Amino acid sequence: LKGNKETLSPVEKEIERALRPLSFDDFAGQDKVLENLQVFVTAARLREEALDHVLLHGPPGLGKTTLSNIVANELKANIKITSGPVLDKPSDLAGLLTNLQPFDVLFIDEIHRLNPIVEEYLYSAMEDYKIDILLDSGPNARSVQISLNPFTLIGATTRAGMLTSPLRARFGINCRLEYYDAKLLTSIVKRSAQILNTPIDDAGAFEIARRSRGTPRIANNLLRRTRDFAQVKGKGVITIEIAEMALLALDVDQNGLDEMDIRILTTIVEKFKGGPVGLSTIATACGEEAETIEEVYEPFLIQEGFLKRTSRGREATERAYVHLGIVPKYRNG
Ligand code: ADP
Repeated sequence: LKGNKETLSPVEKEIERALRPLSFDDFAGQDKVLENLQVFVTAARLREEALDHVLLHGPPGLGKTTLSNIVANELKANIKITSGPVLDKPSDLAGLLTNLQPFDVLFIDEIHRLNPIVEEYLYSAMEDYKIDILLDSGPNARSVQISLNPFTLIGATTRAGMLTSPLRARFGINCRLEYYDAKLLTSIVKRSAQILNTPIDDAGAFEIARRSRGTPRIANNLLRRTRDFAQVKGKGVITIEIAEMALLALDVDQNGLDEMDIRILTTIVEKFKGGPVGLSTIATACGEEAETIEEVYEPFLIQEGFLKRTSRGREATERAYVHLGIVPKYRNG
């Protein structure tokens, strides 16, 4: 249920596509980002230029892919979608770039995971719409320069801090997506319920929304699971009772924390006296990858005040102790 894309089945991906807003008007929240992008898109179209390259960053499931599709739609351009780890060799990138039509969008998800050699090729493509292709190797090696159509690169990342500075410097537009509040998520849940033909009342929608870790993807996932409960255990309508039953069954607690959130906090409190403790130690103790903890779980736990990041490691806060119902007996100070 976490905000990761990799864990989605083909059916879930299909539903995710169906629930995806297609225009700026359909996209809820992120007002500042949206307003700016709208101006930049309109200006690019008026000048008949490619939109400047855009970097979108923020935790998974907040709408980076969705927004990129919307930007391409609004530019009336095509979008080609790929991701950092998939672009293995410079020739993979060259193949994509040379096939772009003028003003098309190339979307690279997880751009912080680009192979450094591929990344270097991207620099001249972004800057001058040119790439150097190396022909042959050894003594016969020579390179030819190929001109590209003007295009817009949209890079998405959950880890803006991991981008190299030369790459970051080549994005003219830099947008950070924030977690959504419960009110916005309620409207997203209602919209999705309508698309899925599922009756839902206000209290039911709000209950799902407020326990979705501020994340539309999670809200939509919880909605679909709750719909199953409504159908099997209820009368088909999602009410607050059905929502509560489903969320309890799914181990989503009153604050929207899931099993892994709780495991992380409990580990820090019980095994490491509340911290500070290093990320990799937490990861080993929880049986989860450090990267996933840092990208998916930690940002929300920090934002909600359950966890603190200090120079010496992660620390559980007072709120974490209260939430877990544990008295901080070992703590100093
Ligand atoms: P990311 O690329 O940041 O991981 P996605 O763009 O794939 O996130 O969004 C995940 C899901 O959440 C999509 O299916 C989309 O329907 C939904 N979603 C994201 N942002 C919004 C929004 N602002 N309004 C409505 N639905 C949204």
